[in-house]
Amino acid sequence: MIDLHHRRECPICNSPKSLILHDAVSTINEESNLTTELRECDECSHWWNTPSPRQAELIDLYKSGSLYVIGKNWDVETRKPREEGVFHTMITNFKTDMSDMNYLEVGCGGGQLFRSMREKVGLCYGIEPGDWASDIEDIVVDINMIPENLSFDLLVFQDVIEHTEDPIDTLSMYTDRMRPGATLFVAFPNKDAPNAQREREQWDMIRPFGHLQYFSKKSLSLLMENTGWEITTLRKGPNTFPLTALKTYNPFRTLKRLRGNDQWYVQAGKL
Ligand SMILES: [Zn+2]
Repeated sequence: MIDLHHRRECPICNSPKSLILHDAVSTINEESNLTTELRECDECSHWWNTPSPRQAELIDLYKSGSLYVIGKNWDVETRKPREEGVFHTMITNFKTDMSDMNYLEVGCGGGQLFRSMREKVGLCYGIEPGDWASDIEDIVVDINMIPENLSFDLLVFQDVIEHTEDPIDTLSMYTDRMRPGATLFVAFPNKDAPNAQREREQWDMIRPFGHLQYFSKKSLSLLMENTGWEITTLRKGPNTFPLTALKTYNPFRTLKRLRGNDQWYVQAGKL
């Protein structure tokens, strides 16, 4: 039995005022009839699903490959190469010479970006609770397995923050391991996108308990500010999430998504 926790204050700005956009969104586990709310913050217009499992239980659900957090075809899709979109280019072209940099990637999935970056940087570690890339050396299941004396210059979160119950806590935990002047690259769902605004709880990024957080321009700015990062580049674009892993996959939606701005791509410098 999953222990669900209600979060009525905004997970980003803590405002107690929010609107219930939908009171019974199904989870991605088709075998379960559990539902969760989709809420919108009055203050920063962030969207989140509540109730949800707490962070520690979420990680256990990923480790055990639970259908509550992992789509039906996810396992196969995650191992396939993704389209190398905007985000991949932002990171791999960040600097011509990154040979003296330490790289940390959180949520490596199938390890595609990690493999590219390993060729470029001096030292790299990845963190991935699922076992999709466990064959790759230096991908570990949590940060405690990385030597304590190591600090990093580059931090990457690709499609990770939306999976967490508390984005500020999660990002802060890794920020503490960054050197002064470090650079962060982070990608997550854009709830200001036309597809999101039109489809609301039907939007294909709404996939509890896999996804729980959907960012407005204001909520992403607050996330950065509250974790000690200054945004240097902010882009919108289609995401490169494995298409057939979505519960709502169909060709029409796929086309809309490929043309949409459903994802934020952020580059930020450590303050
Ligand atoms: Zn808020």
